[in-house]
Amino acid sequence: MIFLKKVQIRCPYCGAKATLRPSSAVYGDAAKTDGFLYVCDRYPKCDAYVAAHRKSRLPMGTLANGDLRHKRIEAHKAFDWMWKSGLMSKRQAYKWMQAKLGLSEEQAHIAKFGEYMCGQLIDACAQAYDNIRAAA
Ligand SMILES: [Zn+2]
Repeated sequence: MIFLKKVQIRCPYCGAKATLRPSSAVYGDAAKTDGFLYVCDRYPKCDAYVAAHRKSRLPMGTLANGDLRHKRIEAHKAFDWMWKSGLMSKRQAYKWMQAKLGLSEEQAHIAKFGEYMCGQLIDACAQAYDNIRAAA
């Protein structure tokens, strides 16, 4: 049996509560999945949400507005290249991220990052990419 733990999280932008809702509440008919999101109770006035884990339905990170969601997608692209390129394993890539940014294993998730940390990660990946190209 899966234990669905209910968590109380608040929107970091407006302080309102966030409620677990089906993805279609935000994406409408464009929702490709039957997934869930934690959505700010003031949505759509406050455009902040975060995905929930499929099984546990716990939030994947903190609620993000449009700017932060965009930044997290960019950070993910830069970071995913580190392991999708075969340069290192996914596990090694996360270890590398922790060491580079001085984060604990618990903190080293892009869904938990603010704009500053996203920027730090993008820079670190760009630097690693330059080093590899210079060495090649
Ligand atoms: Zn809000």
